[in-house]
Amino acid sequence: MSKPAKLSLLNKTAKLLVILTVLFATDRGTPTVTSTSISFAGIPFDVIENGVSDNRYIWLHGDEQTAKMILEDHIKSFSGKAFFIKCDEREVPFESTKIDPNRIFSREGSRAALRKFKSGWNARVFKTALDNLDYERDYFLVELFPENRGLLIALHNNFRGYNIKEELSKSRLSSIKRGQNPRDFIICTQESDYRKLEMGPYNLVLQDQLPTKDDGSLSWAALRDDIRYINIETRLGWLSKQRRMLKFVEGMLK
Ligand SMILES: [Zn+2]
Repeated sequence: MSKPAKLSLLNKTAKLLVILTVLFATDRGTPTVTSTSISFAGIPFDVIENGVSDNRYIWLHGDEQTAKMILEDHIKSFSGKAFFIKCDEREVPFESTKIDPNRIFSREGSRAALRKFKSGWNARVFKTALDNLDYERDYFLVELFPENRGLLIALHNNFRGYNIKEELSKSRLSSIKRGQNPRDFIICTQESDYRKLEMGPYNLVLQDQLPTKDDGSLSWAALRDDIRYINIETRLGWLSKQRRMLKFVEGMLK
């Protein structure tokens, strides 16, 4: 069997197992929460699914533990599917190096990500690594991207100086609120979502145009596929702030 056919069969089998688990759980009257796993370029993810919803959530950086706690809690009471990277560190091991998992969502980004911690790649090995990432990314995004105009919400934390001002040059519209810390903000990729979110109290930018240089982050991949993507970014440790921002997004965009 060819590799794509094998993968396709594996995906179908995994989906069938999930469906069976959900039906069984419903039958017993218990919550319909299921847990499975998936991998992308050898990077494992836990997938928690609660009920039936087109909404998707992702936690991508292992060192951003506030965001992880928020999402673990959130998926218990909101329906959707949440993807949790299985790694405690920001960069994950990949072949003979390590990579930032939020820099490999395009071939261009992957090229830079592969070179960041390793120089002197053999040209053939480098091309094979890029081809493998392209191939695996397609399968992962089929699982991750919502259908039927559902939302994809990513949760991130920042540590040092990174703040909304660094996003302004990549944004078409922005709404910076007085009294809000610039390190706490929301990025969205659809103007209709932006118009609803700008009525709230939080810093917000709209990024609905692809940049000249794609850095491989998930937001550009989502934009290319016309996915309603939301990134909720807060300072590490600001648990209740990030929880409020996520509930606000759910409330405004449901
Ligand atoms: Zn992050």
